[in-house]
Amino acid sequence: MSIAFHNIKEAILGIPYYEIPFDYKYIYHSLKKKINKNHNIPEEFDEIKYNIIDEKLNELLEILRDRPNFRVLNTGKVIYTEKEPINGYICPACGYDYDGNAQCDCYFNYFY
Ligand SMILES: [Zn+2]
Repeated sequence: MSIAFHNIKEAILGIPYYEIPFDYKYIYHSLKKKINKNHNIPEEFDEIKYNIIDEKLNELLEILRDRPNFRVLNTGKVIYTEKEPINGYICPACGYDYDGNAQCDCYFNYFY
């Protein structure tokens, strides 16, 4: 299934966490924190200064543009095609495809 986002900011907040490249996860956490000041930023990430957030989002847009499961339109709209699970369930935190009966091993290592 495909999901359309109006822009890259909406996309980074709406796509599964594992789809965000590690080097850009701090942007996700910083944006989340802006929306909800109780959002917990994991220790390994620094909160970004908001004046460079747009620049970083544009970098991320270029990275996603090259991925087969993303399409970026001229308007800046981002179309994301969800990965189809083979085993039944895809962990939203790490992308591991498993049967969903137990919790994914990664679960406690991520706050998203
Ligand atoms: Zn996982």
